[in-house]
Amino acid sequence: MITKKSENSFQEKEEKIKQKIKVIKQKIKEAAIKNNRNFNDIVFMAVTKNVPANFVNVAIKNGVNVIGENRVQELEKKYSSYLKKNLKIHFIGHLQTNKVKNIIPFVDCIESVDSLKLAETISKYSEKFNKIMPIFLEINIGEEKSKFGFKPNEILKAIEEISKNKNIKINGLMTIPPKNNVEKFFQLMQEIYIDISNKKIDNVNVNYLSMGMSSDFEKAVGFGANIVRIGRFLFEDCN
Ligand SMILES: *Cc1c(COP(=O)(O)O)cnc(C)c1O
Repeated sequence: MITKKSENSFQEKEEKIKQKIKVIKQKIKEAAIKNNRNFNDIVFMAVTKNVPANFVNVAIKNGVNVIGENRVQELEKKYSSYLKKNLKIHFIGHLQTNKVKNIIPFVDCIESVDSLKLAETISKYSEKFNKIMPIFLEINIGEEKSKFGFKPNEILKAIEEISKNKNIKINGLMTIPPKNNVEKFFQLMQEIYIDISNKKIDNVNVNYLSMGMSSDFEKAVGFGANIVRIGRFLFEDCN
């Protein structure tokens, strides 16, 4: 009896995740149309923190092919359970330099690079694993004490320094904006993104702007985000 009940609730949640994927894609599509953008240019990432691997796999089976991981230990625990065919795993949480070696073999991109030292360490271990690791720089766009990332006026210098590392390539910018006045900060990010994309720096190809979460991804699409990172809205009640 107990088994039956938990099966039912798994199926209910599975159904909910499927529905949410449709809703999210539809919302992204509408935001894209409204802003004269191509829906296909926008990546919908499923953020998996605290979500058991079986629910993440439901999302993967239903067309999600990029997931975002926040914590090294959680990734190590869940990695072997994931359906990995065509799956890309981005690391999006704060990363300590002494944990870098643990994730290099498992991830396809590290979005949360917030110091020169971290970039250097990622490059060093990527070399050991024979990889060129795509990285994004995390920008603390609201210059908040509680958040990690480069301040807007530090970015250019940071890019110049970081790009000297051989086994990484800078591919994008990532941010978590302040809760209030989010449009203002999305717009600032878009300006920085455009500015940097237009600069020709060796080993730097900034093609991705990763911003927008459950509460504001449609707004982010309006300011050029091409990766939106959605957790709570997709996996409601799945943890
Ligand atoms: C948790 C998290 C998200 C997703 O936030 P939700 O509000 O759950 O959609 C996106 N990016 C980062 C870096 C996160 O830690």
